[in-house]
Amino acid sequence: MIELILATNNKNKLREIREILAEQEITVLSQAEADICIEPDENGMTFAENAEIKARAIFEAAKAKGFSGYVLADDSGLAVDALNGEPGVFSHRWAGENATDADRIDKMLTVMANVPDGRRGAHFACAMCLIAPDGSAHCFEGRVCGEILREARGANGFGYDPVFGIGGRSFAEFSAEEKNAVSHRHNALMQVLAYFRSL
Ligand code: IMP
Repeated sequence: MIELILATNNKNKLREIREILAEQEITVLSQAEADICIEPDENGMTFAENAEIKARAIFEAAKAKGFSGYVLADDSGLAVDALNGEPGVFSHRWAGENATDADRIDKMLTVMANVPDGRRGAHFACAMCLIAPDGSAHCFEGRVCGEILREARGANGFGYDPVFGIGGRSFAEFSAEEKNAVSHRHNALMQVLAYFRSL
């Protein structure tokens, strides 16, 4: 059985990663369960850099407590073509440090209001950094492409899900199973699993 600490305090990422890994021989511990309450500064310029900053910091803290398993970090966000890839690594902070999901969605709908259909392409990206017990880092990136909708729709998911659409439905209108079968997080985690299988 692989033991893995998930380097995040985001309960939605934790939930989705647990759902996607449910059938695997992997015990997923939250930071709280591992008794690690640090929140490292995400000052990298790319998703991969930020994922490695988070994974490395939690790995060192866990090692100091005697943990000898894996640490996995997820850094993710929304990149909008018409905004030259923004908000990207700034997805969480885009509407201000203390903004809510509703604030971020409002800002997205406002800045995209005059962008015509056909130019509303966007993708979610998820970089995952896995630190192995020997301290080596392994990075993987998953994506899912869609478009920015003209209004927020649906109540599932989190973050920008209500304004990110595929095939006419928002991610927040997808069930958890539907989102988890195609998401950027799913695509990155499939690469993590391929890495484990290669050992
Ligand atoms: P960070 O990875 O903690 O920097 O935060 C990423 C931010 O991107 C989140 O706070 C969300 O706003 C957004 N995000 C990441 N993944 C998703 C997703 O699956 N759905 C909707 N929004 C997401």
